[in-house]
Amino acid sequence: MTINVTRSSLPAFEEYCEEIKELWDSRWLTNNGVKHKAFSAMLKAYLDTPCLTLFANGHLALENILEAMKLPEGGEVITTPFTFASTTHAIVRSGLKPVFCDINDRDYTIDVTQLESLITPETAAILPVHVYGNLCDTDAIASIARRHGLKVIYDAAHAFGVRRGGVSAACFGDASMFSFHATKVFHTVEGGAVCYADSRLEQPLNDIKNFGIHGPEDVLYVGGNAKMNELQAAMGICNLRHIDDEIKKRGEADRRYRERLAGVRGIKLCEPQPGVQPNYAYFPVVFDGYRFARDEVAELLKKHDIAARKYFYPLTNSFACYSGTEGFEPNSTPVAADIAQKMLTLPLFADLSIQTVDRICDIILK
Ligand SMILES: *Cc1c(COP(=O)(O)O)cnc(C)c1O
Repeated sequence: MTINVTRSSLPAFEEYCEEIKELWDSRWLTNNGVKHKAFSAMLKAYLDTPCLTLFANGHLALENILEAMKLPEGGEVITTPFTFASTTHAIVRSGLKPVFCDINDRDYTIDVTQLESLITPETAAILPVHVYGNLCDTDAIASIARRHGLKVIYDAAHAFGVRRGGVSAACFGDASMFSFHATKVFHTVEGGAVCYADSRLEQPLNDIKNFGIHGPEDVLYVGGNAKMNELQAAMGICNLRHIDDEIKKRGEADRRYRERLAGVRGIKLCEPQPGVQPNYAYFPVVFDGYRFARDEVAELLKKHDIAARKYFYPLTNSFACYSGTEGFEPNSTPVAADIAQKMLTLPLFADLSIQTVDRICDIILK
């Protein structure tokens, strides 16, 4: 049987049926119905955030918050290329200009020692990524942003449920985007949310995600359609009931991987971050080439029907769609370029058995 890099968790079939039953009576399927309202309230409490807006997916959540913040047209947004396509595309599709900062080689988040040197009069915002659920150096980023009067929007797609010193990942910066895609730790099949501190963003976000419609005869924005529907919200309500168990089970697989792979020459694991309560979203491994080349390991696992993922490869600043675009140059971010060649994320999901983890480790270590 093929072992995929991830496997979506689902509630019991009956639990979901029970949750969506009343929708068959009410026939209210989208546009801020009862499930949407209930899910939104549950999430606010779980993520400890004063303001939260739900979306059809994480990507549109990111595009919509960039629009709602009214950043200056063509402004520069400092970000990293070691991320999913969505982060960079959201900036470009919003009419803004990504400026790529390198990552650090400990947790693969933005290198805060280089961040300030990239700020120009055109800089409008900083958009760092909590890669693999590793939290960025949020204190350093906050003080740089404050000094220069910049907005900070986190791509927190990987960081659902992560806390540092008890503080939720939803509480850093001006806004944080979460993805509830089927492959994430917590999901609504497709879905996403933005959490933010300034309640004045709530009205524009609600309007922009619904064609800019503010009232029946009042259209205030050139909005699109990015609403979460009732069936998605119902899935979220069910999955949120089981999230602690989900994270705990992932943690058990994570622990086994570490027991087997820590300290092996040629293999570098992400160190747990001090004071951080993790969500075990991914199990990233750097193969430095001493004994194992990343691509060889990936091929070997594939022969055994085990799918590992080169996540993230290629870097977003080397995508074909950006070739020839000024500033898109993987050599400008050498650490990211190096790690992209060496990184492999191993299978990790709640019902991954310890036996399977052992089998994967046996194949790698042999
Ligand atoms: C999944 C993901 C997104 C996009 O989220 P969707 O819900 O799939 O639209 C954005 N950024 C990162 C880093 C992601 O992993």
